[in-house]
Amino acid sequence: MSADSGQIKAWAESHVDADPQAILEIAVQNFPKLALSFSGAEDVVLVDMLSKIDPNFSVFCLDTGRLAPQTYAFLERVREHYHVELDILFPDNAAVEQLVKTKGLFSFYQDGHQECCAIRKVEPLRRKLQQLDAWITGQRQDQSANTRAALPVVQEDGLFSTASQRLIKFNPLSHWTSAQVWQYIRDNDVPYNELHEQGFISIGCEPCTRAVLPNQAEREGRWWWEEAAHKECGLHAHHGIKPR
Ligand code: SF4
Repeated sequence: MSADSGQIKAWAESHVDADPQAILEIAVQNFPKLALSFSGAEDVVLVDMLSKIDPNFSVFCLDTGRLAPQTYAFLERVREHYHVELDILFPDNAAVEQLVKTKGLFSFYQDGHQECCAIRKVEPLRRKLQQLDAWITGQRQDQSANTRAALPVVQEDGLFSTASQRLIKFNPLSHWTSAQVWQYIRDNDVPYNELHEQGFISIGCEPCTRAVLPNQAEREGRWWWEEAAHKECGLHAHHGIKPR
């Protein structure tokens, strides 16, 4: 099924403070070609919630080839804990080889993360999303005042929709705080990435993620050598801020 713009807006408005499970139920009931994007960080709560709503749920992850060993171990724990098939997506090997051959393994420290993220994340994601009507992300408003403050619980995906394919994006944790996410993890014995015990909050690729200090914003640990307004990897369009 699909939903028109009016329906998407109505869901977003009527569920602005709703439990994430209620938002997931809308997604499951209305979009048969639906999958959860799992990043290997605290958005694991969505894996837990979805497993209780739809035993046949689909979940995918982007393996950039640059994840931390702890993240790979965590992905395996999640696969075993939930008895779920993780659809792990890899980048185009020729594109990675060309990038590394011409610019080396750490070009992002010199000329920004967009080129590497485009190859290792955005292209495989685009390939996956072409198969779907809707996807689910773990984005939250409190992750970044610069790029996520107005994030709705459901929206048309302005970045990956095409003339022939209208794609809907659900953000069921949009209005949750980090404290609520961690309360859920504790209350439900949800497995988590052990990097969280070492001061990491927002976890991405190993060379582009570092721990943050108490009271630092969580996205400060990502691409710390770049301006705050550009700390997105190109997977999401944000209210006037185009991925570079
Ligand atoms: S986060 Fe860093 S290593 Fe990972 S794809 Fe982006 S630039 Fe490359």
